[in-house]
Amino acid sequence: MTDLSNVTPVDAEDISEWDMTADVVVAGYGIAGVSAAIEAANGGARVLVLERTSGWGGAASLAGGFIYLGGGTALQKALGFDDSADNMARFLEAAVGPGADKAKIKDYCDGSVAHYDWLVSCGVPFREAFWGEPGWEPPHDEGLMYSGGENAAPFNEIAQPAPRGHVPQMANKRTGQKGGGYMLMKPLIDTAEKLGVRTEYDIRIERLIVDHEHRVVGVLAKRYGKEIAIKAKRGVVLATGSFAYNQQMIEAYAPRLIGRPGAAIEEHDGRAIRVAQALGADLVHMDATEVAFFGDPQLLARGILVNGRGQRYVPEDTYPGRIGQMTLLQQDNQAFLVIDEESYEAALETETSTSFFRTTPKWVAESVAELEAEMGLPESALQSTIATYNLHAAQGKDPLLGKKPEWVKPIGTPIAAFDHRGHTAGFTLGGLRTDLDGRVVHVSGEPIAGLFAAGRCTSGLCAGGYVSGASLGDGSFYGRRAGAAAAKDGVRTGVVH
Ligand SMILES: Cc1cc2nc3c(=O)[nH]c(=O)nc-3n(C[C@H](O)[C@H](O)[C@H](O)COP(=O)(O)OP(=O)(O)OC[C@H]3O[C@@H](n4cnc5c(N)ncnc54)[C@H](O)[C@@H]3O)c2cc1C
Repeated sequence: MTDLSNVTPVDAEDISEWDMTADVVVAGYGIAGVSAAIEAANGGARVLVLERTSGWGGAASLAGGFIYLGGGTALQKALGFDDSADNMARFLEAAVGPGADKAKIKDYCDGSVAHYDWLVSCGVPFREAFWGEPGWEPPHDEGLMYSGGENAAPFNEIAQPAPRGHVPQMANKRTGQKGGGYMLMKPLIDTAEKLGVRTEYDIRIERLIVDHEHRVVGVLAKRYGKEIAIKAKRGVVLATGSFAYNQQMIEAYAPRLIGRPGAAIEEHDGRAIRVAQALGADLVHMDATEVAFFGDPQLLARGILVNGRGQRYVPEDTYPGRIGQMTLLQQDNQAFLVIDEESYEAALETETSTSFFRTTPKWVAESVAELEAEMGLPESALQSTIATYNLHAAQGKDPLLGKKPEWVKPIGTPIAAFDHRGHTAGFTLGGLRTDLDGRVVHVSGEPIAGLFAAGRCTSGLCAGGYVSGASLGDGSFYGRRAGAAAAKDGVRTGVVH
């Protein structure tokens, strides 16, 4: 267990000897950390990365690899999709709010095409192929997919749909074990190495070190139980991930995730947030959560999803992460998928990259009334839902929730239901308030001198909603910003010796 109790800053005058020194010290070698390291090195800084585990990668290298990019990236163009920064921003403002940082969204969308080019220039491979089927991620090495419900209600009426989930090419994927995230991280790590970035593993940062002007000038870390002081001449970049594995913080800030599995790694213990808080850092959207839904999107799109009262609540052909959020946050984690035999058989014919999401129905019946009774729903609850759905479906419409006509078909019999109660997991999206240069902002509104942060220890693009790719997207985008600003910071303020 990490000792999270002592997060108070250490006075630099109390450090008798520095064990290591660099211009920019980066804590954490996942997506935000490597992106910061590269740009700090490109900015002329000597960079030292401190990583708690024995290797690089973090949650990023386990990830499916979606990077949310748009506005007309080379990949979007090559595959014939029109997009613009304004169109992308319109979608994101609707999808990731309420309360999203509009300046950050605009900045991110405006810089998205250049960020894609930067990733490619670092060697991240993207195959020019589009995957258009419902799913969590492309089953093969296709490079582009809808990953936020852009082409589903209500967003398809708000902005022109464009797929923005960019996935690095990876053969023979296995979700959670061997995903596109590895092929994002590996080339970036190689790039950092070529630039001379130094890495020290098995070192866990524990506290920040500040000088008499409250400027952050280093970190106190621990390696095999021994305390180590590391000096940062220009700045410290915090990139140690979310607080998904800090039970106390989950209970205090994101209680909807209590008892849910964390879609993260155990090293995401909120330490970066705590040490910055101890210096007066502001926090944003601490209750925001990504929510995965353990259901097969191919089955979902063909059936109807009902809550504990037998009522529909979400267009079933939308982004599964939106289904997860709406289920956990608005329906008390109660969900049943109802589907007829014909649609079930049709779904089984399709390919899915996430076959562990494809389970078998819990109840099978010859009539809706029978199914309803077996599921324990009050008489007529499900029957009236299906009668209303079928009434409109006969015309290929779903005026209630806007499911696209291609998935709307009257539900017949035999009929079955999957029990999806409690089938969610998630990770936290809230964290440190940062400006567009990745500076950690004090509660006064001023940046904290010498302190930068990026990735899931910060609040990025997402305030409430989520789109797949936002974390690797804003982590890499603002990781770069933080690294570049940290490299410049000491130079401008004259701290560099
Ligand atoms: C199965 C799975 C699939 C996912 N798929 C996607 C996806 O397709 N697209 C997407 O955008 N997001 C995805 N995510 C989420 C995404 O991986 C994370 O949100 C993202 O990696 C966060 O970036 P980060 O740099 O903040 O953290 P990480 O990439 O996890 O890096 C943080 C690093 O800091 C280290 N660290 C922690 N504490 C300390 C300390 N005290 N001192 C030093 N080092 C420390 C950790 O060991 C880790 O290496 C997925 C997550 C999972 C688990």
